[in-house]
Amino acid sequence: AVETFDSKNLRIKLVLLGDSGVGKSCIVLQFVRGQFDPSSKVTVGASFLSQTVALKDSTTVKFEIWDTAGQERYASLAPLYYRGASAAVVVYDITSPDSFQKAQFWVKELQKHGSPGIVMALVGNKADLEESREVASEDSQAYAESNGMFFIETSAKLATNVNLLFEAVYRYIHVSGL
Ligand code: GDP
Ligand code: MG
Repeated sequence: AVETFDSKNLRIKLVLLGDSGVGKSCIVLQFVRGQFDPSSKVTVGASFLSQTVALKDSTTVKFEIWDTAGQERYASLAPLYYRGASAAVVVYDITSPDSFQKAQFWVKELQKHGSPGIVMALVGNKADLEESREVASEDSQAYAESNGMFFIETSAKLATNVNLLFEAVYRYIHVSGL
């Protein structure tokens, strides 16, 4: 659920899930700091960052973001981060069919064990690597639709659609009135 400080200040707890190396940490870094660091470090366990966004109507939204590690050995910790989250962003890499499979695993996990009504986004990252694409947008779009998620492709490297992703999360939560 969205916790409200008051009617003008909302707080959204959000978790990023997905295979190691798909670009979760880079997406968060681009959103929070407007930077892309190609030599960024592998996430150990999970890391927390927050970002407050001011909307046109002077509402502010504070995103409290849990960026999880994708490695198998941390999989058992994931529920600590997605339980109680109002949004889950499941990321894969458009050049990696394996990572798309892994994304589907996380979607099922969230459907089984996530908060009821959790807003889920499916994100195909590394959209700048179009020449190496191995996951068709149409397939991801169809998968997302059949699972009640919204789908967006991003490039953390070029900052494409990164802000839009978080805006969309906010809007979906807002309209569904969670
Ligand atoms: P995480 O394990 O999911 O957190 O992945 P990271 O954010 O650590 O990124 C893994 C690797 O992918 C790094 O070498 C990044 O530089 C690279 N990367 C992340 N996002 C993008 C992107 O949008 N485009 C490209 N070309 N590389 C990216
Ligand atoms: Mg990471």
